[in-house]
Amino acid sequence: MKKYLFILLCVIFLISFSGCGDAPLEEIKKPPRPPKGDDGIATILIDAGHGFGDVGCISEHLGDIYEHHLTMDFANRLAEMLRSLGYNVLLTHDGEKLPNMAELMLEAEKMGIDFDREKITPENNIFEAYERTLYANVLTKKTEIDLFFSIHVNANADTDKAEGFEIDYCAENSSSEMSSFAFDAICRRLEEAYPERRLKKFADSWEMSFVVNKYTAMPSILFETAYASTPTEADLLLDDGWREALMQTVASGIDDYFKQ
Ligand SMILES: [Zn+2]
Repeated sequence: MKKYLFILLCVIFLISFSGCGDAPLEEIKKPPRPPKGDDGIATILIDAGHGFGDVGCISEHLGDIYEHHLTMDFANRLAEMLRSLGYNVLLTHDGEKLPNMAELMLEAEKMGIDFDREKITPENNIFEAYERTLYANVLTKKTEIDLFFSIHVNANADTDKAEGFEIDYCAENSSSEMSSFAFDAICRRLEEAYPERRLKKFADSWEMSFVVNKYTAMPSILFETAYASTPTEADLLLDDGWREALMQTVASGIDDYFKQ
């Protein structure tokens, strides 16, 4: 009898410490659902790196094509693809019209957005990284932005052999967790579509983070497509089909993130 009582006690003990009962809440770890606008459609803000007074990187291998031409091309392709998937898509700029920074600062102040005036370039002929974050933060007060995606072209002054993608997010700001989910989803698609190509993945500290990643109030990713300083990479950048396929892959990653 004692033996049965012992077994019964063991069973009760095991049940109380196993997963049979209600699991403690802290053990259930699911990625948080990406925020959605009132209409249930996610809004993505695409940032074509550089432009206006800042042409971005220049390379002899690209001739008279500069980084800002390529980032605008990538951004337009990605915008079109995401729109066709049903997303609201906005661009930080169209390469032609600059936001008026004086008006933007005034608006930000009225909205109670915290920003550093010192970081805004006095001349209103360029659109620096910090200014883009201010623009994004003002915009998200009006239309909730669910993801900020900045596109660039890489360069390495020390070698003409650097190759591959680079992708970054800030791991030390208020939207780091959501950024990491978007980052993972995009990386998965890139690794799947380009298994041979190098992919440098960075979860940056506050100090190391790109300005557009750390000061934006929404999940934010910066993507470096290829090295303009490497001849073979420049050839990819100049290839229409390559740019199109790359943006298809990125669009699929973004779509995965919102559907997970
Ligand atoms: Zn750049």
